[in-house]
Amino acid sequence: MRQMAVREIGAALSSPLAACLLAYTLSGLADAQYLEAWLVTQIFFAACNLALSILLLRRVDSDSARTRLLGFLTITLVLEAASWGAAPVLLVTSDPIYNVLTLGFVCVACSLALHTLCLYQPSMVMVLLCLMVPSVVFHLLGSSVIDQIMGLGALVVLGLSLFYGSVTGRLARNGIKGSVQSVMLADQLKSNTADLRTALRAIRQMATRDPLTQCYNRRAVLEFLERDMVSQDRGGPAIGVLLIDLDHFKQVNDSLGHLTGDDVLKALSHRLNNLMRGNDFLARYGGEEFVCLVHVTDEQQLLAAGERIRIAVAEKPILSKPEPLTIQVSVGAAMRRRGEEGNALFARADKALTKAKNAGRNQVLLDSIASSPLVADVNITSTVD
Ligand code: GH3
Ligand code: MG
Ligand code: MG
Repeated sequence: MRQMAVREIGAALSSPLAACLLAYTLSGLADAQYLEAWLVTQIFFAACNLALSILLLRRVDSDSARTRLLGFLTITLVLEAASWGAAPVLLVTSDPIYNVLTLGFVCVACSLALHTLCLYQPSMVMVLLCLMVPSVVFHLLGSSVIDQIMGLGALVVLGLSLFYGSVTGRLARNGIKGSVQSVMLADQLKSNTADLRTALRAIRQMATRDPLTQCYNRRAVLEFLERDMVSQDRGGPAIGVLLIDLDHFKQVNDSLGHLTGDDVLKALSHRLNNLMRGNDFLARYGGEEFVCLVHVTDEQQLLAAGERIRIAVAEKPILSKPEPLTIQVSVGAAMRRRGEEGNALFARADKALTKAKNAGRNQVLLDSIASSPLVADVNITSTVD
C-alpha cells in the first residue's frame, strides 16, 4: 500500500504536466472552453490524488483512516481517469493527427494507471474502463476510417491493459504473499529455535545435574575429568581427586528419616560448593558420596584441600532443625599420574577412602603415586598412607 501511495504521488505530479502539455498542443485547435474546463478539472483531480496519497503515506498505521483514505483516493482516481477519458471526445480537432495525439496521451495515462493500480484489481479495472471506453465508443461510432482505426486501437489497448494488469497484479500479489509467508516462517523458525535452545538447556541440565542437590552428577564429573586429563597429558595442570563419603549416614536416615537424610545431603552439597575454588569441580558421585576434582601441584596440597573439606564439614552442625545435627566425612585422595585412566584414578581414591573408613573415619587418606607400581615418570614422596 505504501508502494501504491508512492507511485500515485509520482503519477499525480506527472499527470497535470502531461495535461498542460496536451492543452498547450491543442490550444487554438480544440474548443477553448472545453480545453480550459478540462485542464482545470485535470489539475484539480491530480491535486486531490496528490494530497490523498501523501495522507495515506503518513497514516499507514491506522487501519480505519487508511481504509477511508483509500476509498477517497479510488473515487478521485476514477474521476481523474474519466476526465482523461473524456479528452478524445471533448478536445476533438479537425486535424486527425492531433486526435491521434490526444488518444496517445490517454494511452500513456492508461499505462501509468496500470503501473500504479495493478495490485488493486477492481480500482484498476474501473480506471482503465473510464480512460479507454469513451475513446473506443466515440471513435468506433465515427464515420471516417481513421476514427474506426483509432477506436479499434483504443479497444486493443484497453484489452491488453486489462490482461497485462490482471496478470501483473496476480504475480505481484503472489510475490507479496510469498514475502509475508517467508517473514512468518522466519519468525516461526526463530521461535522454534529459541524453544529448542531452551529445551536443550533443560535436557543438558537434567543430564548433568543431580536432581536432589542440584550438584553436578557422575556423568558430568567424568566428562570434566576427561577434558582435564587431555589437558594434563599435554602438559597442563595436574589433577587431584577427593572422594568424600558421609560417615554413618545410614544412621541419620534410620534415626531421623529419609527426608532429613535428603536435607543433610542438600546442606552438605551447599557447604562443599562454598569451599570450591577456581577451577575445582564438585559432583555427587552417588548416594552419600561426593567427588571433588582439584588442580593442585602436589599431593601435599591435595591432602590440605581434603583436610580443609573435612574440617569445614565437621566444625559446625549441618542442620539446625529439628535439633542441631553434626556430621563427618571421610575422604580418599589421589593425584593423577600423566597417562593414567580415569577409572584407575578413581579406584585409587576409593582405595584410600576405604582405608580412611577402616582407620576410624573422619579423616583424609591419600593413595600416593609413589606407592603405585606404575609410577615411572613422577617423583613424589608420599606423606600419608
Ligand atoms: P559409612 O560411614 O561406612 O559410609 O556408613 P554409611 O552408613 O554412610 O554407608 P552405607 O553405605 O552403609 O549407607 C549409605 C546410606 O546412604 C544408605 C542409603 O540409604 C543412603 N542414601 C543413599 N542415597 C540417599 C539419598 O539420596 N537420600 C537419603 N536420604 N539417603 C540416601
Ligand atoms: Mg558410601
Ligand atoms: Mg557413608
